[in-house]
Parts: sequence; structure tokens; C-alpha cells
Amino acid sequence: MRQSLVVANWKMHGSAASAIALLQELLPVAAAASAEVAVCPPFVHLPLALQVTADSGIGVGGQNCSEHESGAYTGEVAASMLADLGCDWVILGHSERRQYFAESSELVAAKYSSVRATGLTPIVCVGETLQQREQGKAQEVVAGQLQVLMDSPLSASDVIAYEPVWAIGTGQTASPGQAQEMHGFIRQFLREHCGETAEQIRILYGGSVKAANAAELFGQEDIDGGLVGGASLDAAEFAAVINAA
Ligand code: PEP
Repeated sequence: MRQSLVVANWKMHGSAASAIALLQELLPVAAAASAEVAVCPPFVHLPLALQVTADSGIGVGGQNCSEHESGAYTGEVAASMLADLGCDWVILGHSERRQYFAESSELVAAKYSSVRATGLTPIVCVGETLQQREQGKAQEVVAGQLQVLMDSPLSASDVIAYEPVWAIGTGQTASPGQAQEMHGFIRQFLREHCGETAEQIRILYGGSVKAANAAELFGQEDIDGGLVGGASLDAAEFAAVINAA
């Protein structure tokens, strides 16, 4: 039985004050929820997020990390630094990283390897563009993004987030049927490459998840929760998403 997981991706939003206020509103929500909850603020807000959520059960993670362990890489943050700070999670290969920062699947795989050594739990994002979907290549694209991670079998705690690029921040959500179809495909891919561990790996859906659509999405067999962008910045909206999981 996989416990539902709801992860907030704040992207590049928020001041220290707004971050603290949002987290404080989430504390009682997460305490009462049956789903596991995590937040991924911008790097600079990680220390305060860890402080506000201490002992609350809310996990904290980075939105990205370097593929390198240390060195002359100005502006980068190593996975071990996130772990050292007290983070539990890190998002890898978000479509905005792939699109705006030219992250290839091979680079995402290198980041995944660097995370494995640290004890952080990776949330690896995969998903196709609208053009790829319209060309009938959605499954092929997602399989390619997963294949590069398969040098060794994934761990049971690893998380995959299916985020169709055309649904991120657009208000356009994959229908529950479309999402389940891809989640089922990902589960089958994981079964073929990771054996029984596939049943334990959580596969999140991301792409304009909000209070109004969360319950139906999360009700699908292979959707184990959500990676939530815009709606995670509004405490009431995000609370409703958590409660739907
Ligand atoms: C995301 O950033 O991972 C995301 C899914 O964004 P949104 O919920 O705003 O579409």
C-alpha cells in the first residue's frame, strides 16, 4: 500500500515573511492529513522552512541540485549540501529546468546518481510536450526520460512525477483518464526494470492540480499524489489538495 504524497513546488516565489506565513497555515493541515506532505521552496528559504516545519512531519526539499559533489561550480548547490541542511527531498528534471536551463535527460540521470549517495529522496519529473503528445510520442518520450535512470534499479522510496509539459502552469489539466493511462504505462515500465519495487514507487501527477480536480486525479489507481505548483502558494487551496489525497 503506497501512502499518498503531496509535494509543493513553490518555484521562484515568495519572501521570507510570506514563506513563514504559508508554512504556519500548513502545519495543522499536514498534522491531520493522511497524506505525506513536503514543500520545496527556493534554496534561500530552505533554512526557515526547516525551522518552521521542525517536528511537524512536513518534509522539506530543494527544487534542483548539482550533478557534482563539490568544486568550482559558481551558483550551484550540491545534493550533499541539501542533505546536510536537513532536507529530505529534491526535485530533479522539472520541465522548467529542462526547458529554460537546457537540462538533458542524461544530466538529470547524473543528478539522480549524485542524490543517491546522500540519503535525499529524489522526485524525478518526466513528461511530454504538447507537440510530442500530438505526434503520438508521449509514451516514447517518457520511456526515454526514465530509461536513462535505469543503470541500476530505482529504490522503493524514489518518486517519479509525471508532469505533462502542456499542463504545467497553463490551467490545462490532463483528464484523470489521460493521467492514469500514462501512470499505468510508467508503472509497467518500472515493473519491467525494477521488478517488485515498482509497486512501492510513488508516481505523482503534476500539472495544474488544484482543489477542484485533485480528488478525481488522486482517485486513479496509479496516481499516488501530486506535485503542485501554483496551487501550493495558496494555503487554503493547497490544504484542499492535501485533504483530497
Ligand atoms: C509544477 O511546477 O511542478 C507544477 C505542476 O506547476 P502547476 O501546478 O502550477 O501546473
